[in-house]
Amino acid sequence: MHSALELDDLRVHHATAAGPLKAVDGVTLSVAPGETVGLVGESGCGKSTLARCVVGLNTPTGGSVRLGGSEIAAGGRDRVAWARMVQMIFQDPMGSLNPRLTTRHTIELPLRVHGIGSKNERLERVLRLMEQVGLGPHLLDRYPHELSGGQRQRVSIARALALEPALLVCDEIVSALDVSVQAQVLNLLTDLQSKLGIAFLFISHDLSVVRYVSDRIAVMYLGRIVEEGDSESVWNHSRHPYTQALIASIPERARDEKAQRLQLSGDLPSPVNPPSGCSFRTRCPYARPLCAEVRPELKSDGLPHSVACHFVAEIPELAARPEYAEA
Ligand code: SF4
Repeated sequence: MHSALELDDLRVHHATAAGPLKAVDGVTLSVAPGETVGLVGESGCGKSTLARCVVGLNTPTGGSVRLGGSEIAAGGRDRVAWARMVQMIFQDPMGSLNPRLTTRHTIELPLRVHGIGSKNERLERVLRLMEQVGLGPHLLDRYPHELSGGQRQRVSIARALALEPALLVCDEIVSALDVSVQAQVLNLLTDLQSKLGIAFLFISHDLSVVRYVSDRIAVMYLGRIVEEGDSESVWNHSRHPYTQALIASIPERARDEKAQRLQLSGDLPSPVNPPSGCSFRTRCPYARPLCAEVRPELKSDGLPHSVACHFVAEIPELAARPEYAEA
């Protein structure tokens, strides 16, 4: 069976006055049918640019994007086929919903655009979709400003499901919601996945959120994947110092003194002029001269998952790091 999504050496380089900005710089990643892959990294690491390539909103400058086994060029008539294979949900439902459309018209729009069903059939489908995402029929004629943040995000999810896509790309979709509403939306996604068998590419800066919903996790730094594998393996046995710093920074641990010793210092370097060799070397406590000269490749080398680091064999798991273990 074909993967729901295959990215092969995906690159998005923009020309700027200061030189090429490498937003995405050689990402190879796949999502199997019905699988959730979490993509995590700091703001500015390239994950949203990657997401926009998957849904055809950005054009790659190199590599390929395949959906359901087919490479679909952005633009032209293939966009219709693309829309039925992949849909995206954005962070800010208020910004992504048309304020002049009711819940009914928002969810119905993709069906009308693609000429699907009669008016009555579309209404039935809208009501079914609302039920699937936990919205009562009394919300049918409400406008976005008459809904709560959680309800608006449920409308976005129902609209994205209308064309029955094989893949949903979720870009920071719970970051603007209260913690209790976040949990409800995340539970809804896992529920939808088990019922509908949809694949998800779930993007967030928060590794604890990504871990909650994902089968596999890919950690991105400055346009490249630095650690990737089974969700529990990456969470419990992370070996890349960047992933370990992300885990140490999650809100539940951020106040812990031991965890604070592992948190990142300094800003993310500019993708216009990234460090040579390993792009993490300017923030890495393990960096050595080789790290400035040779870019490490993502490989497993006997580990349960893949890591891009020359000295991974010498880097202990998070709990065994001296800064973390010592009182
Ligand atoms: Fe750190 Fe070097 Fe490994 Fe990069 S390759 S993560 S700089 S030790």
